Amino acid sequence: MNLKSIAKMDLGRLILALTIASVLVSLANALHASYQVQRQQLIDAELKSNHAYAAKMAASTDDFFDEVMQQLGYAAQIIGTDFDNPRFLAAESERLFLQTDSFNSIAIIDSHNQVLASSPQSLKLVGRQLNTPGPVEANARRKPVISQPFLSAVGNLLVFISQPVVDAQGNYLGAVAGTIYLKHENFLSRLLASHYSQDGTYLYVVDQQRRLIYHPDNERVGTAVKGNAAIEEVIDGISGRMQVVNSQGIAMLAGYATIPATGWGVVSQRPLQATLAALDALMLRVLLASLPLALASLLFIWWCACRIARPLQQLASGARAMDDPATAEEIQRVKSWYYESAELKKAMLLGIGLLQKNITRLRQDAHTDPLTGLGNRRALEQTLQSWEREQTPFTVMSVDVDFFKRVNDTHGHHVGDGVLRQLAQHIRECAREDDVFCRVGGEEFLVLLPRTGPQVALRVAERLRQQVERADMSPVPGVTVSIGIAHWPGRGAKMAEVLQRADEMLYQAKREGRNRIEVDALAAPSES
Ligand code: GH3
Ligand code: MG
Ligand code: MG
Repeated sequence: MNLKSIAKMDLGRLILALTIASVLVSLANALHASYQVQRQQLIDAELKSNHAYAAKMAASTDDFFDEVMQQLGYAAQIIGTDFDNPRFLAAESERLFLQTDSFNSIAIIDSHNQVLASSPQSLKLVGRQLNTPGPVEANARRKPVISQPFLSAVGNLLVFISQPVVDAQGNYLGAVAGTIYLKHENFLSRLLASHYSQDGTYLYVVDQQRRLIYHPDNERVGTAVKGNAAIEEVIDGISGRMQVVNSQGIAMLAGYATIPATGWGVVSQRPLQATLAALDALMLRVLLASLPLALASLLFIWWCACRIARPLQQLASGARAMDDPATAEEIQRVKSWYYESAELKKAMLLGIGLLQKNITRLRQDAHTDPLTGLGNRRALEQTLQSWEREQTPFTVMSVDVDFFKRVNDTHGHHVGDGVLRQLAQHIRECAREDDVFCRVGGEEFLVLLPRTGPQVALRVAERLRQQVERADMSPVPGVTVSIGIAHWPGRGAKMAEVLQRADEMLYQAKREGRNRIEVDALAAPSES
């Protein structure tokens, strides 16, 4: 939009545009603020719930390890009573395997890592020496141990949970161990998988080396996760919540907690997008809820703006027609109810008053003879035009001062002017209200008498002639006038001719000796 088109726009439209813009901006602002607040609330709630869930799962897992340690501890006590009896060990191993569903397999080893009994039987481990990290660590430490995940002798990725076995004198004999196969279904996976849901929320567990102990995607179990800030915190034993980006580059809201028994970290997370999915519908509801008030305020602001604009619009329309006499009245009616409009109105009324006065004065000046204050030839023509339009009959008297040149020559122009002014005054006095009188030449005057016949005009002329004759116009003695009279319409004469006829009568009066009156013989004899 360029400046020119802005200048052409009226106040009403400008205000409407401004109103709509301001309501839209405030609506957008409110929606934006509400969106931000709701979004943060959803994120905070999701982070909190993930943190709570991770903490709960970490606690449950810890309980699970406590429980299996107790089971193994109890078994170790029993086994210690008859460690050299292979059949007893086999029975104990089988009992342990079948009694609980905590383990994928059971093994009893001596202090040289040799398997003395194992379940299930299908593993065929009895008599074998195990040099894998679990058994080696169990014998090395001779304490309850939960191993880090490792690949077993038969190729299973597993965690080796063991309790030491001692005899009645407290001599170390070996260990009884239960294993959890990380890639198979196991007690831990059943516990952790219960939270997996359709909306993309999932839970995983990492060990101290950032390797996945549990993950819904079984393929990933045993692989290490790098560059995840939540994992870095949780393996340091810190539990908390944060927004992270997962291995697929998806933004996630994660809560995490440490399992004390193992130092493993449980992470529960949900995609940010899934969390915010409800937000659009929520915002639509906010929008719909705020629309009525927005519309109401739009209408209210517009109404107020129109009330403010109205006096200005009315003043502006008045300004377009300042020369029209009706405008002042129009502006007078404008309800200028506030300061600026009232000042504008006042100024415009003042301006219009001055303008009208000037126009009237100029019009008067244009129609007035400055010396005598009578009408001039222009005023005469205007009067004749309007009478011709209205077909107003009239009589015209052409008045001329006798021997005026002599007055000037004898007494000077100045005195001559005084005589002309006095004569104008006599004409005014003799004329009636409706009569029109003008100075049309140096010392020549015309008097137009509307709706007047030649005989009445003659009487008026006679009165004027006598009044001038008798008047004291010192220092000029004996000023007289000659008068010619003609009437219109008088026997078909055109209006233009009637003045000429009056002039002819004037010349005739001059010829006949001056200080006299001659009436056009063609003038209608009838009297009105
Ligand atoms: P007549 O009786 O034939 O009318 O003789 P007159 O001298 O009046 O006629 P004329 O037309 O010869 O002279 C008119 C004079 O009027 C000439 C001029 O000096 C004088 N006159 C014209 N206009 C003015 C004016 O505005 N002021 C004065 N003082 N004299 C004027
Ligand atoms: Mg004269
Ligand atoms: Mg003359």
